[in-house]
Amino acid sequence: MTLRAAPSLDIVVPCYNEEEVLPETARQLTALLDSLLAAGNVTSAQVHFVDDGSRDRTWALIEQLHQADPRLCGIKLSRNRGHQNALMAGLGASTAAVVVSIDADLQDDPAIIADMVDAYRGGAEIVLGVRSDRGTDSAFKRLTGQGFYRFLKGMGVEIVYDHADYRLMSRRALNALAQYTETNLFLRALIPQLGFSVATVPYRRAERFAGESKYPLSKMLAFALDGLTSFSTRPLRLITLLGFLVSTVSFALGLWALSVAVFTTQGVPGWASTVVPIYLICGVQLLCIGIIGEYVGKIYFETKRRPRFIIDQMLGDDEVVVQSAKMSAIHTMAD
Ligand code: UDP
Ligand code: MG
Repeated sequence: MTLRAAPSLDIVVPCYNEEEVLPETARQLTALLDSLLAAGNVTSAQVHFVDDGSRDRTWALIEQLHQADPRLCGIKLSRNRGHQNALMAGLGASTAAVVVSIDADLQDDPAIIADMVDAYRGGAEIVLGVRSDRGTDSAFKRLTGQGFYRFLKGMGVEIVYDHADYRLMSRRALNALAQYTETNLFLRALIPQLGFSVATVPYRRAERFAGESKYPLSKMLAFALDGLTSFSTRPLRLITLLGFLVSTVSFALGLWALSVAVFTTQGVPGWASTVVPIYLICGVQLLCIGIIGEYVGKIYFETKRRPRFIIDQMLGDDEVVVQSAKMSAIHTMAD
């Protein structure tokens, strides 16, 4: 099998209040760039740190890092837009043949980027990092994390088990991704829809190097809900089924009450049999309206076609700026 030529590489790192880990992340990634270059795996390599509206010294650190090593570039978003949007900003600013996205906290082993590049050279357009074990996650995080994947899969969302946003994408895959202009981004379910050849690389997930998780339970739930309602209409079908079930049961109940009244002498309807169904049906209706509202809310935001992010400042070569201008043009053109 003939290998593809060594590609140029960009690494995109979304950062939200990551002052504690950033120097170490930069050190490890720089060492990795050097070793990839020395081994001839890549022709050139850069890192794009995307500051997602941090309130700590993250941007000041990125500026320092860029001054010390111009291969370390920076993008500063005008405010916090969330992990997925920060990632898209970095992907849009990259110009290399392949782009790897990785979290800032060193939980995803950077060493396997070499394997990802190998898989790309072997023909894959998309290479997913898949966690081989979650031993270092807290029991709570593990349970909610696994529940998250199982639930989404059960609801018909195409999602790769234990793959987060640690992945390599080729330029072809990135160009395809740029055609998706939706506001509610859930990249890990969007990427399989691109349909290119996908390879996976297993890795052990480490503990956060420093600092706290930026994904508390509330954000994780919101993320799961986004993933569900952006990719699946199965809840709507469940509502229909539920409605059908409740109606059938009520009808049977009605028949039963009628038969009691007609054929027996105990036909005094009780308080419970009148009031309880009223509450039940009210509850079911509220639930159904709520779920429908979720989708209506989505339609509302999609129709606005707002830009996903606004870039405040950039560090690095001019090319990056030009590319990014193109990227924002894609978003504003649709208005
Ligand atoms: N992050 C971001 N914007 C946010 C929240 C998180 O850019 O609003 C980044 C964060 O800096 C990190 C990555 O997304 O690089 C994943 O976040 P975190 O490690 O806190 O999530 P966890 O690993 O706990 O799920
Ligand atoms: Mg993390």
